[in-house]
Amino acid sequence: MPTSLSLKWRRALRRQAADPSQQDQHFLALLLGAWSSRRPVGLTGFAISVATGIGAGTASVALQMALRGSVSAPFSTQVAIGATVGAIAMIATRRRFAAQQARHAAAMALASSFLDASRDCVKLLDLQGQMLRINDYGATLMEASSPVQLAGADWLGFWKGGDRDAATTAFRNALNGTPASFRGTCTTTAGQPKWWDSQLIPVKDHGGKVVAVVCASLDITNQTQLLQQLRAKSELMSEMEAHVQLVFFSYSANFEYFHYITAGSSNVFGLEPEEFMRNPNSWRELVVPEDRAALQAEMTRIMTESTEGRAQYRIRKADGSVRWVRSTGYPVIGDNGDVLRIVGITEDVTAEQERIAELDRLAYTDSLTGLANRAALLREIESRCAASKPFGLMFVDLDRFKVLNDTLGHLAADHLLRHVGGIIRRSLPDDAYIARLGGDEFAVLIGSVVDQPGLEAQAKALLGGLSENRLEGLAGAFITASIGISIYPEHGSGHDALLSSADVAMYAAKKTGRNGYQFAGKEAARTIGDFELERDVPEALATNQFFLHFQTIHEPHSLAVHGAEALIRWQHPRRGRISPGDFIPLLEETGFVEDVGVWVLDNALRQLAAWRQAGAMNLGVSVNVSARQLGSEQIVQQVDRALKRHGIPPGKLEIELTETALMKNPKQARTSIVELKRLGARIAIDDFGTGYSSLMYLADFEPHTLKIDRHFTSKIEHDPTTQTIVEGIIDLAHKLGIQVIAEGVEQTAQLDILRRVNCDYVQGYLLSRPQAPEGLMTRAQPGARIGPRVRTGAASPRRSAPDCGPTTDRPN
Ligand code: C2E
Ligand code: MG
Ligand code: MG
Repeated sequence: MPTSLSLKWRRALRRQAADPSQQDQHFLALLLGAWSSRRPVGLTGFAISVATGIGAGTASVALQMALRGSVSAPFSTQVAIGATVGAIAMIATRRRFAAQQARHAAAMALASSFLDASRDCVKLLDLQGQMLRINDYGATLMEASSPVQLAGADWLGFWKGGDRDAATTAFRNALNGTPASFRGTCTTTAGQPKWWDSQLIPVKDHGGKVVAVVCASLDITNQTQLLQQLRAKSELMSEMEAHVQLVFFSYSANFEYFHYITAGSSNVFGLEPEEFMRNPNSWRELVVPEDRAALQAEMTRIMTESTEGRAQYRIRKADGSVRWVRSTGYPVIGDNGDVLRIVGITEDVTAEQERIAELDRLAYTDSLTGLANRAALLREIESRCAASKPFGLMFVDLDRFKVLNDTLGHLAADHLLRHVGGIIRRSLPDDAYIARLGGDEFAVLIGSVVDQPGLEAQAKALLGGLSENRLEGLAGAFITASIGISIYPEHGSGHDALLSSADVAMYAAKKTGRNGYQFAGKEAARTIGDFELERDVPEALATNQFFLHFQTIHEPHSLAVHGAEALIRWQHPRRGRISPGDFIPLLEETGFVEDVGVWVLDNALRQLAAWRQAGAMNLGVSVNVSARQLGSEQIVQQVDRALKRHGIPPGKLEIELTETALMKNPKQARTSIVELKRLGARIAIDDFGTGYSSLMYLADFEPHTLKIDRHFTSKIEHDPTTQTIVEGIIDLAHKLGIQVIAEGVEQTAQLDILRRVNCDYVQGYLLSRPQAPEGLMTRAQPGARIGPRVRTGAASPRRSAPDCGPTTDRPN
């Protein structure tokens, strides 16, 4: 049987292929044929078949009897015929019943299989909308325990609100014979809301009358939720796009056309997405010409290197506004390594740029004058240097601003600085870049005039502008400036060199009388060489760059140490060790010598106190005091204070004054000397014999000591005249009760002569070089002596070597 059935199936399929319209009929005929041939008739069918057979047989016998007259046959034959007819009738009836029953069963089975095979929730509804049957899967979707639970349920009752209306309308349509559909939510038996896509198909009898309605509902809960989520996301995106200045895009790998661009394009570019699709270059046409090359270069780089890239550029929108935008592109790489597309984002960063510009402005502006500040100037210099175009740099420093600041007050000084800024601006060409470096320092970059005569004319114009403009509201004060000028590239290739050479030139201008200008160069550098030192003094004092060396003074015969002269040294951070001959005159000039003098006095006496504490009670210390110090009214008080601070008997301090110092202000010098003597301090005249009217001073100032200058000492050995002079000085001094120290003793022969001519004390390299105090200490006990390492054959029984090697000066 399976073989013959499958043969029939194959034939049927072939026929269907030939005539598709007959598909359903053939399929059903085949199915039903196969079903009916196997189906038993059943008890009722069997009884009806038997009755039909009996009836037919009886009717046959009766018919024969009625025809007895014309057809003569024995009765037994008539019965046999009747029985045969009855049997045939019975068989025919039985077959018919069997076929009908099979059709019915097959239809039921088919309907059930279709129902249960469906992945929809399929229901058969009667004309009142009650569920006659729901498929198994439908019951599961409706979370019912079985289809039976829903049998007879009111289908319309499951829908609520608007969905109920839609369901009712669809059902009515189906009742009217028209298939209908709708979407809606109804809850399952467990109360779970679900979304359904329902189709209602009317079931009609052979007369076309609707007898029932099939409702097939697809559970679209997941997809609806997904859709809702997507919609929500898309709405969110739309909202965001509407508010933020942002565009997302997907560009072809070669930047030729867009796959997609978000609606934000209208915000950012002022172009609708459709415009981008239609003309992919539309946005590029908005880019300002100056930014096009850089943008194109970055796009090319993204393409050729298949790498992420970013470009920031300006666009001019249709309304004429210029906006800053930033585009970032990321290549999407396929499995084979090719770039499939470039996705990215473009945002309007105008606000950010404006903020940066504002910060930049604040960071690079001098708040007082509104001019560029130092940082801005440095940046500008570097950018001009990078462009390799010559320019002039003027370093402008106001003269005596400190005095003005102190006398006028800070507010007025601020006003003055602002005013000066304005004068500079008005006096120089329009293209001059003016900056305030801080305090009273200004700098100007000039690109239009770069030769020396031209810049000279500018400097003169500026100085003229300043002197012409008396400052209103400042009691008619007027101000001058000193200007240093450097030129790029002549005086430097970067801001460091240019500024420092202009700075040096400016100091040179100050040094040569202020209210003038100087060009950078060797001459300016030389002029300010020592001027720089002057500037460094306060820091030197604060950071202990100064220190003292001591040179011992000896009794000539025994060479016993009588005292030590304090000699200042400066360890300059850049210049190294500087000798006092190089900086004391400078400090003299500037007045710093007073501060430094106080420091020397204090430290020399502190050292003497230490030696005294170690036992060297007879030791004295000599301190050099300059003319300016001596001229100050403070000197006596300073000496007094220092002596007291360190507990030094005044007679152990000898103050050395040069003849030059005495000459400068003899009146004040005399007053100070009288006061110092009254304190008990000793006075020595230093470098005796190098100044004028030397002998006068002996009478005028009545010093305790006279120090014969080393020039005499150096000649004493070979020059009899000098020897006679020295001898005479010593005699004269002794007669006046003045002791004599010979300086600069370098030779034993000199020492011998000095001994012979009764010089009281000797000092010089022969006996000791100036050295650090530690090298002079012998032992810390009462009666301790200090003494240098004497490098001469002039032996002395009382000479002692220091414990540690001395740190000595280089020869002068
Ligand atoms: P000065 O007071 O006449 O000091 C003696 C100078 O002669 C020192 O030079 C010393 O090193 C040097 N000298 C000592 N023995 C010899 C020698 O045998 N041969 C030669 N050629 N030179 C010798 P220094 O230390 O360079 O001082 C130079 C001058 O600087 C001093 O001359 C003094 O006038 C001044 N000075 C030094 N320290 C101070 C100070 O603290 N205050 C002031 N106002 N002036 C000072
Ligand atoms: Mg001296
Ligand atoms: Mg001297």
